[in-house]
Order: sequence, then structure tokens, then C-alpha cells
Amino acid sequence: MTAKASSGYDVDLFVIGAGSGGVRAARIAAGYGARVMIAEEYRVGGTCVIRGCVPKKLLVYASRFAHEFEDAVGFGWSAPTQTFDWRTLIANKDREIARLEAAYTSNLEKSKVEIVKCRAVMEDAHTVRLVESGARVKAAHVLVATGGTPNFGAHIAGLEHVMSSNEAFKLHELPRRIVVQGGGYIAVEFACIFHGLGSEVTLVYRGENILRGFDDDVREHLRTEMTRRGLRVLCGHTVTAVAKAADGLETQLSDGTKIAADRVMFAVGRKPNVANLGLEALGIKHAEHGGIAVDEYSRTSVPHIYAVGDVTNRINLTPVAIREGHAFADTVFGGKPAAVDHTNVPTAVFSEPEIGVVGLTESQARARLAHVDIYKTTFRPMKATLSGRDTRVLMKLVVDATTDRVVGCHIVGEGAAEMIQTIGIAVKMGATKADFDATMALHPTAAEELVTMRTKTASYLREAAE
Ligand SMILES: Cc1cc2nc3c(=O)[nH]c(=O)nc-3n(C[C@H](O)[C@H](O)[C@H](O)COP(=O)(O)OP(=O)(O)OC[C@H]3O[C@@H](n4cnc5c(N)ncnc54)[C@H](O)[C@@H]3O)c2cc1C
Repeated sequence: MTAKASSGYDVDLFVIGAGSGGVRAARIAAGYGARVMIAEEYRVGGTCVIRGCVPKKLLVYASRFAHEFEDAVGFGWSAPTQTFDWRTLIANKDREIARLEAAYTSNLEKSKVEIVKCRAVMEDAHTVRLVESGARVKAAHVLVATGGTPNFGAHIAGLEHVMSSNEAFKLHELPRRIVVQGGGYIAVEFACIFHGLGSEVTLVYRGENILRGFDDDVREHLRTEMTRRGLRVLCGHTVTAVAKAADGLETQLSDGTKIAADRVMFAVGRKPNVANLGLEALGIKHAEHGGIAVDEYSRTSVPHIYAVGDVTNRINLTPVAIREGHAFADTVFGGKPAAVDHTNVPTAVFSEPEIGVVGLTESQARARLAHVDIYKTTFRPMKATLSGRDTRVLMKLVVDATTDRVVGCHIVGEGAAEMIQTIGIAVKMGATKADFDATMALHPTAAEELVTMRTKTASYLREAAE
């Protein structure tokens, strides 16, 4: 599958989109000696660096200090007078993002990748057009790594007053009251960020419970914890209209309830950036979920055109996009065919408290496996004994009782994301419950519960095992 000699082409590889997947693919391909050009229509670094994971995590850090100040009192500290300045936070965040963007740019340049700062579209299977200048670049291979974009859902009256996560990162002021619509991780994280920073938050979600796709115990636990902390979570509702009011905005819900807010944010899903790229004319097939259809080597239905990252709508996470971009470059330019394994991807929700999960949920395991054992505990974290905070940690192991392998781990509590990264190694390696039990506990930690859960809380035999 190694790239053939590409004489007659301006470049061996043209990458559309300098985000997580595109940047990695470009650098690795250039490292193999390919002549690479990459186009970026907004800012180098893409969603993760500019308006996703990184700025989000910085805001998460900021939002958690309020709890820390409160908790400190039980440990003998006097509560400081708290003032928070949103503009300082945003200015500092912007400075860090600019630093990262410069680092990404310089790394591409050091790798001898040519960057063109404009929109690029496909003209034919080997020709990319730079929209601003109209210049055409002949490429032996093209990688579409255009990512995704916020989706606002069905049109409602007053949608022009609604912002997405993109605008939330650039607000001039912290909203005093905010309505967030959505039940996915972005909606939940922003609801917790704004709540931590002092906003009055209402989270509105049309489904029965937030975080569809996560383990049901995790969903219930987080919702209870969020409500305990004073966030209003309204499930089974939708926002049907937003109107200007004398004092900000008025949000109308499906049951007629009206909520006054300064800002309304929708985080109801993201759609792959496939529109107006010239892909349809080339006959590039789309998958049912709207992303570009690709095989395990990220090949599209048109030879020489590949796609990685959120535009393929497989698992929309930065490390996945990076791995896919790397595997593409290894396969096409490094002579090392590499397919990406999309199973057991650890993932987090940076809510308050945090979630970390890897592997199967209880319901997935029960649908797929003949015999499933569940080990579950909830407990008051040690820090809460003196802080007096009313909170509990949830830890849950899903075990394939036939093989004793731990096929899922689900944590809600402080440090869950950090814990799940390492538990992910064990789950990926096929660790058994006996391996967990044989591991010495590290005391006193919350994580020690993961290796000291001795008693099954439930055991299920599939009724109609295949
Ligand atoms: C608010 C938010 C929080 C997130 N938090 C996390 C997290 O905590 N952890 C995690 O793993 N993931 C997180 N993600 C997801 C993560 O950001 C994406 O999965 C990742 O960025 C996907 O990388 P990508 O290369 O596919 O696309 P992107 O990073 O989106 O890059 C695509 C790039 O292509 C450019 N582009 C598009 N069309 C064109 C064109 N025609 N010509 C030129 N350039 C073009 C875009 O401007 C963009 O820069 C978050 C996302 C959001 C929105």
C-alpha cells in the first residue's frame, strides 16, 4: 500500500484541515519523505486546541476553585473573599491557545509541511482548489480531516439568540443566568463550568436522562450529584423558543415553562464537516451517521482519497483522530499498513464530579455476553469527611463471568479521568477480576476500591444466549 512515485503531482499529500488528525498525518507523512501541503481555513490546531478539549479543560480548572474554597473551611482555613474575573480567565486562556497554535505551526514547518491558510475544496480526485486564490494543487493523495461543527437541531423561533460552544469560549461576560440545552458531554461539561463559576444554570434535555450511551448507574449518579450541587437538570423537555426580554432572554420550554436567562447555549450534537467540499461530485460515499464512509485504513470509496477524525464520525475524540491520522501516514507513506482499533477507548466527562469510563456498560455487556457479573460501590470520599460536602463516589466493574475478564470500568468522582487512563491499559490487556484482586491496594486513595471490591452486587445470565 506504499505510495507510488508521484511525479506529475505538485505534492504527494494534500491534507484538508489542520486539526488533531490532519496535523499528525501531515507530520508523519513528511517524516517518511512525502511532500506535504496542509490547508486550514480557521486556526492551526483545530477544534481540540482552539475551541474544544484544551480551552474547555482550562475553564474546568477555573470552575473547580469555588468548591475548593468551600471545602477548605473544614480543614481549618478561613474562607477567602471570593471574586472572580471572567475577562482575566478568557484573556489568559486565549494567550495559552495562541501559544499552542504557534507551537503547532512551528512543528509543521520544522517537519517541512507547507501550510496554506485558507479553505480548500476538491475539484477532482487529484485536484484541490484553494478557495481564496483559486489556485489548484495536484496531489497524489488527499486526506480529508475537516472535523465537525456544532449542530443546532431543528429551527426554533429566536435561534439567532442561541450560541454554541464556539461562542461560549469567547463571551465578554460571565452570564448570571444560563440555559444549556443538550444531554451529551459538551452540554454537561459547560453546565458544570458555568455553575462552578457562579452562574445560575438550567440544563434542559429532551431524553429521560443525561449522557445517553453511558452506563445507567453513571448517568443517574452524576445527575443526582449535579442536582445536589444546585444545578437545575430538566429532562424530558426541549427549548421551543427564545425571545429577547427586557432583562436578557426568555426561554420557552416544551411544557410552556418560561426561564429567564442572559445566555442560551445549545450543545445538541455535532455534524461532520462534509458540506461544500466537492465530495459528492467525486462520488465519495457517506455512512449512515453522516460522516465520510471509510474502511479500517481510513480509505474512502474513491482511490487516493482518505478521511480521518470527526469527519468520519467514528469515535469523535482527539486521541482517536490523532491515531487515525498516524495510521494513515504509516499505511500510505511508511509501508506499514496500520488499522486503528476502536475498542476499549477510555473516555472522560469533565463534569463536577468527573466521569471516567472504559469498555462496556452494564447493558452492553448483558446484551453481548452470556454471563455478566457486576461489582459496584458508592462511598463518601475521605476529603468529604472534614469538608462536610454531601457527595459520593461511584465505582463499577463489569466482568465477563465466563472468562473473568473485566470488560468495563465506570467511575464518577474526583480524579476519575486520571484513574481511567491507567485502568484502560489493564482492560485493553485483558486483565481479569482475579488480576484486579491480586493487585495490592494503595491506601488511602479512592482508587483502591477498584482492587478491593470482593462481593458481586449482581450477576446476570442471558436468557436467550446465542
Ligand atoms: C467543546 C468541545 C470539547 C471537547 N472536549 C474533548 C475532550 O475533552 N477530549 C477529547 O478527546 N475530545 C474532545 N473534543 C473533541 C475533539 O476536539 C475532536 O474529536 C478533535 O478535534 C477531532 O479532530 P479532527 O482532526 O477530526 O478535526 P478538528 O480538530 O475539528 O480539525 C478540523 C480542521 O479543519 C478545518 N477545516 C474544515 N474544513 C476545511 C476546509 N474546507 N479547508 C480548510 N480547512 C478546513 C477546521 O477549521 C478545523 O481546524 C471536544 C470537542 C468540543 C467541540
